[in-house]
Amino acid sequence: QSVLKSSGKDLYPDWKAGDPVPYAALCTTFSKIEMTTKRLEISAHCSLFMRQVLRLTPDDLLPTTLLMIGKLAADYSGIELGIGESLIMKAIGESTGRTLKIIKEDQQKIGDLGLVAAKSRQNQPTMFKPKPLTIRGVHSGLMKIAIVEGQGAQGRKVDEIKKLLSAADTNLPKGQAIDISTDKGGPSEAKFIIRALEGKMRLGLADKTVQVALAQAMVAHDVSLKGEKVPSSEQLKKGEEVFKAVYNELPSYEVIVPALLKGGIWNLREACRLQPGVPLKPMLAKPTKSLGEVLDRFEGKDFTCEYKYDGERAQIHFVAHDAAQNYAAATVAPAAGKSDRGISNIFSRNSEDLSKKYPDILAKLPNWVKSGTSSFVLDCETVAWDVEKKHVLPFQQLMTRKKKDVKTEDIKVKVCVFAFDVLFLNGEALVNKPFRERRDLMYSAFDEVEGEFSFAKYGNTREIEEIQTLLEDSVKASCEGLMVKMLDGIESHYEPSRRSQNWLKVKKDYLAGAGDSLDLVVLGAYYGKGKRTSVYGAFLLACYNESTQKYESVCNIGTGFSEVVLSELHETLSPLVIERPKPFYEHSTGKNDQPDVWFEPRYVWEVKTADLTLSPRYRAAAEAFGGDGTHKGVSLRFPRFIQVREDKKPDDATSARQVAEMYRKQEAVGKEKKISVDDD
Ligand code: ATP
Repeated sequence: QSVLKSSGKDLYPDWKAGDPVPYAALCTTFSKIEMTTKRLEISAHCSLFMRQVLRLTPDDLLPTTLLMIGKLAADYSGIELGIGESLIMKAIGESTGRTLKIIKEDQQKIGDLGLVAAKSRQNQPTMFKPKPLTIRGVHSGLMKIAIVEGQGAQGRKVDEIKKLLSAADTNLPKGQAIDISTDKGGPSEAKFIIRALEGKMRLGLADKTVQVALAQAMVAHDVSLKGEKVPSSEQLKKGEEVFKAVYNELPSYEVIVPALLKGGIWNLREACRLQPGVPLKPMLAKPTKSLGEVLDRFEGKDFTCEYKYDGERAQIHFVAHDAAQNYAAATVAPAAGKSDRGISNIFSRNSEDLSKKYPDILAKLPNWVKSGTSSFVLDCETVAWDVEKKHVLPFQQLMTRKKKDVKTEDIKVKVCVFAFDVLFLNGEALVNKPFRERRDLMYSAFDEVEGEFSFAKYGNTREIEEIQTLLEDSVKASCEGLMVKMLDGIESHYEPSRRSQNWLKVKKDYLAGAGDSLDLVVLGAYYGKGKRTSVYGAFLLACYNESTQKYESVCNIGTGFSEVVLSELHETLSPLVIERPKPFYEHSTGKNDQPDVWFEPRYVWEVKTADLTLSPRYRAAAEAFGGDGTHKGVSLRFPRFIQVREDKKPDDATSARQVAEMYRKQEAVGKEKKISVDDD
């Protein structure tokens, strides 16, 4: 079976092994993936394509992988797409000789810019056949679009998009028809280019599936090099495990894929290890509603209760100059802090480079790194600090700091770093060591400096009264509550990118019965009434479904806003108005359920809710609860606006899976209560 052949005939007769792989071939695979919801089939298409690229033109494996996950580079590079609708429409119009008015009309009718582009290309007579698009050509074209900055950037972006679109769909082999009468649209290159530009491929192809496919392709390749036909299921499983372990520690295809090509899958563990310069995805915590729940979960085990500081997650990386040559990747990330001692970076919870936001932290780093410490990766929270009164300030203070190009001399809000974990120290990865040991190592490698660097306060106790006191003390110290963590054994290892049962968060407001807190994406708004006529009075919010890459509506919200906040929100949201909902917005189609305006997905808000219920009007986690044809999703009752989460992007919003979990938990508790009441 070949992705470059159909019924035994070459689809691309002029193409030969080693040549850049046609983008159309990848689009055909995308189209097949899109046509099925079966996980195994999706994975098989993906892995088959990768295997062939590996055999025929291995140099294309990296751009293929990146285009499959809909990214251009690792997150820490800061290079990403997510181009606004108006720019894309302009480019489609200009590249296909159609007016903006017609493009807008098409968009109104079709609702999917990818299909609008496919249709526009299809109806356009081409005088000459441009050179076919290649995978690496599309990747580098998209890259140019993503990194253009400065004066005239918008115009240059449009020009680059036009270049890609003009060559799209002109060299489709026979039998590879584009059919926009179906809502999928077939293997149109234009369609997939637009989706990449929008930053949502919507193939139902989860990052994890691509990882498994890549691992399997590597195992199959290895087996075929040895003259065997197919790998055994154990070999495949082992390959997946190796890949997963490596990716968890070093989530960068730019480093991993070249290593795979050089040494194969079985040498990957040796070739790629956690290293300063490449941020790991942080371990996350599960929420709990009572100290009783914590004790139940950790029964019989030793655990620790740390203050939960209310600031911004920060992963600080450092490597001394004389050790830097050991870490190729240290130079991959844009190293921002250079001192006499070494190179350092700070990354956010989404692996964004925060070095330009916190030059003050990097400048003071030599004050608290002990002289014998040559390299490290620290997990910390940066917290606003009152220099005079010498205590922690609320989160809102921190948010007033500028985000980019901060000059140390202009900084008004000072920050202190509170370190709670060390993941790498002096050349050694520590993620697979017990937390107790990691913590000891952390204490041995750094010095506390008041107002600059501290270790997170903690108490190791199993006594509920003592935990209660710790919780109260943490709140008095302007913290949000406690983080409770396992201390020993495999359960206390650091689990990158996992929301783990072994880290529990206890927030004071959860305990006060104030309900759940969620971070939601703003999709639309309703015009205000009465006093609020000149602003938006209520909003439609959504959670994020990671597997479908769609935003699923979860509530309307009109409470918790002051007049000032409403007018600020009106100002920031108005420029984001779009013609109609994006195809990746899931919401009831009922006539009365539609907001007055829709927005580009840009903002995340923290919202509190009394409880959750099921409603046909919303679509959150509808896969789990509305499968019986009722299309019911989970929705929030009495939601209240808390604040804008500047530190979160739409894809970091509370996930549909988390919403489902919250709902199930609430139902389970509800039942328990009912039973105990009945028992009485
Ligand atoms: P999420 O809801 O995705 O977990 P969040 O940013 O809303 O993320 P919380 O859920 O409130 O955060 O709690 C986890 C966060 O708490 C961590 O990501 C970290 O930024 C912060 N934090 C503060 N103190 C600690 C600590 N001692 N240990 C671990 N995390 C801490």
